[in-house]
Amino acid sequence: MQGGEGQGRETGESKLKKKAGFLAPTCFESLYAFASTNKERMWGFWCVRATSFHLKFHQNSRWISVPAVPLSRNFSLTQRTGFPFVFKAHLYHHPNHNSTTMTELDVPKRHLALVYDAPGSISVKTVEVDTPEPGVGEVLVRLTHTGVCHSDLGVMENKFKGLPLPTLAGQIGGHEGIGIVHKLGPGQEDSRVKLGDRVGIKWVAYACGACLPCLEGRDGVCFVRLPDEEKNPGTFQQYAIAPANYVTPIPSGLSSEEAAPMMCAGLTTYSALRKSDAKSGQWVVISGAGGGLGHIATQIGAFGMAFRIIGIDHGSKEELVKECGAEVFLDVTKFDTKTMTQEIKNITGGLGASAVIVCTSSNKAYAQGLGFLRFGGTMVCVGLPEGDAEPIATAFAGSMITMEHVIRGSALGNQREASEILDLAVRGKVKTHVQVRKMNELTEVFNEMSKGQMHGRVVLDLQ
Ligand SMILES: [Zn+2]
Ligand SMILES: [Zn+2]
Repeated sequence: MQGGEGQGRETGESKLKKKAGFLAPTCFESLYAFASTNKERMWGFWCVRATSFHLKFHQNSRWISVPAVPLSRNFSLTQRTGFPFVFKAHLYHHPNHNSTTMTELDVPKRHLALVYDAPGSISVKTVEVDTPEPGVGEVLVRLTHTGVCHSDLGVMENKFKGLPLPTLAGQIGGHEGIGIVHKLGPGQEDSRVKLGDRVGIKWVAYACGACLPCLEGRDGVCFVRLPDEEKNPGTFQQYAIAPANYVTPIPSGLSSEEAAPMMCAGLTTYSALRKSDAKSGQWVVISGAGGGLGHIATQIGAFGMAFRIIGIDHGSKEELVKECGAEVFLDVTKFDTKTMTQEIKNITGGLGASAVIVCTSSNKAYAQGLGFLRFGGTMVCVGLPEGDAEPIATAFAGSMITMEHVIRGSALGNQREASEILDLAVRGKVKTHVQVRKMNELTEVFNEMSKGQMHGRVVLDLQ
């Protein structure tokens, strides 16, 4: 992306045409928007990979920001701006998207952030914070959307005893961020991430890429990862720093609100299903199949990986779980452990399921899960129990040996899996039930979440 020189519309336009190659707008990626106005000496363009974008106009050597306008596939749009003129924008496919020399878009000195002002309770305050400078290897992302995950609530309430540090006042939570790269750190001009690229930020915001877990594709347990949102402020804010080599490029064709939940819920469940080692056509039980994680796991398992899914949850979730592709739904309130185990044996031809994915944070679900497995089956632990640590009550060495059962933990997923889950989402194999809420509604959202009144997944609009 290159800035214009402000030499008048004619010169600017012809220069742009030369740069853009003036190709037919056939591709939705690497698009350049060219905007001409009804005023002389005013033109601008912008490269976009997003479903919304900013136009900037170069007027008498001064850049003017125009608010984001919706980008449609019509490649031509007319938008009345805050200025007393009308411009038309035409989008062109740029053959050489990488020829970028600019390293910064508009970056304010300060921006809005949501902080946990009283950790241990549900309370969020909107404050202004300094917008940080990206360092070497980093980019500054203008976040437009962030998912709200159940673990954010747990972190704010200090419910996870297993985390290295308690949550401190002033911490910025959030780990499902989507936004546009607005500034490159020093030396990043040739990195794979360009200005204007749409990217995602995950729970593990940084993985070194060089330690043994990273080399084995287990970025989620990188030895030098930075999941600590205190040192590494999260995505409940308008700008965040992220490593250029660890942000996740978001494919065009997927809206930012749909992409946000993929950064944690999608990635976590997809990776867990992969780790279960179940084969297509085999039975997989999803515990908590109607929850934020579970309804995504059910779809990925059923539509993306061709498993036969048995979904377990409260009766009120039956319709949702079946819509998500579960072949069988079991209402948790209608069975005790013994009858539930028997029911699963009956459904699976007397054997049991090949895998159980525990998406709830309930210790009881973990204890039940092992009993649902057939010989050689795997239980994958995904939902992080809150409160004091409890062992999995039924993990008896004797039965695990005779049945060759496996219990596996799964922390998030790796970079490759992040792009695979986005690919499934783009192809419509997984659709999150998303509610888009305003930035200042986060406390309310957490309250609803805490009371179990949350349906689907909340994504905050940070614009
Ligand atoms: Zn999460
Ligand atoms: Zn590492």
